[in-house]
Amino acid sequence: MKYISIIGSTGSIGTQTLEIVRQQEDLRVIALAAGNNDELLEQQAKEFKPDIVAIWSEDKAKRLRDALSAFDIRVVSGMEGLLEVACADRAELVVTAIVGMIGIRPTICAINAGKDIALANKETLVTAGHIIMPLAKEKGVRILPVDSEHSAIFQCLHGEEDNRVSRILLTASGGPFRGKSREELEAVTPEQALKHPNWSMGKKITIDSATMVNKGLEVIEAKWLFDVEPEDIEVVVQPQSIIHSMVEFEDGAVKAQLGTPDMKLPIQYALYYPDRRYLSGDRLNFADMVGISVEKPDMDTFKGLRFAYDAIKTGGSMPTVFNAANEKAVALFLDKRIKFLDIYRLIESCMEVHKVIESPDLEQILEVEQWTYEMIDKIVKE
Ligand code: NDP
Repeated sequence: MKYISIIGSTGSIGTQTLEIVRQQEDLRVIALAAGNNDELLEQQAKEFKPDIVAIWSEDKAKRLRDALSAFDIRVVSGMEGLLEVACADRAELVVTAIVGMIGIRPTICAINAGKDIALANKETLVTAGHIIMPLAKEKGVRILPVDSEHSAIFQCLHGEEDNRVSRILLTASGGPFRGKSREELEAVTPEQALKHPNWSMGKKITIDSATMVNKGLEVIEAKWLFDVEPEDIEVVVQPQSIIHSMVEFEDGAVKAQLGTPDMKLPIQYALYYPDRRYLSGDRLNFADMVGISVEKPDMDTFKGLRFAYDAIKTGGSMPTVFNAANEKAVALFLDKRIKFLDIYRLIESCMEVHKVIESPDLEQILEVEQWTYEMIDKIVKE
């Protein structure tokens, strides 16, 4: 039996993780955490009977305590609750399926408690990779990628530990606006941006895919996960999302992992690594793959990727500014308070004026996050 906790159990990655739990007999859920969706969390608690559940607001926690009074399940709230779920006794592995930098503290807490991490929450690694990766090494904890591209790279690297990697080829779908000009992007709406051609995901990452900020976050995530320099990570647009990513070794050989666009595969691989298990679902049909193509990314129009390379080359607290500015800008765009291209303008404005802190500790990262949010509030009000 493998004991797991999930932070962000009501979201896209969280619910797909629970679908896997339903299909496997040797996974047991110990703790679950959600943000707002107390109704779904209640259903999940009744079905999976964890020891503990966390919901962000104390009001919702009170309702859940009543609703779950017939069960032996502790209900907690706020950041303290989230940390309790991340460090819950008995869990061996924590799936970090929460969205945004709010995942940093629970992830650090889980690593300190010696739990393996199945990491979906890329924002944590982007902003605190220099803290997380050495800490995981020190504690003997595995950071297992859930992001499909990073899982693909991880699968390609399996068995190649002694061989030198010359390049990581990170694939991107290009998102719903691939091929569009800046002029065409001026007026796009959240509804249009939320229509991803291949993947069904949470709102924030779907907008990040449309701006290509997501690919930028993934470049930084790959740097930390695989200890490669940003100049050795090349983004390749692969519009059908069949090649999930590739690794080139020093002899020129390129290994790729291919599959249908289904997040359950990388989630399950992280849960059982290094073993593979049967997974139901569509299989690739090579006879239908005649139109498979690759392109160069358009970094002039989709500036999210370029900002990410700039941020990671500068290093220190700059990736935090890049990420935090994007988190805030995406929320404003989804609220229809700014336009699509304003996301780039806001990120750029914050990065331009930020005074970099070289190796920020956790407190400084959270201060920089706050500074960035305040900067954006100021710019948007003007
Ligand atoms: P969703 O928006 O679908 O889900 C986010 C989850 O985080 C929800 O369960 C939400 O709870 C929870 N959450 C938000 N705030 C809090 C909080 N304060 N306390 C506790 N839980 C909270 O996002 P995704 O599943 O799409 O993405 C999650 C992460 O995985 C992101 O970092 C994303 O970049 C990454 N990722 C996602 C992929 C995908 O296919 N979806 C692919 C690769 C990476 P609630 O809904 O109850 O508010």
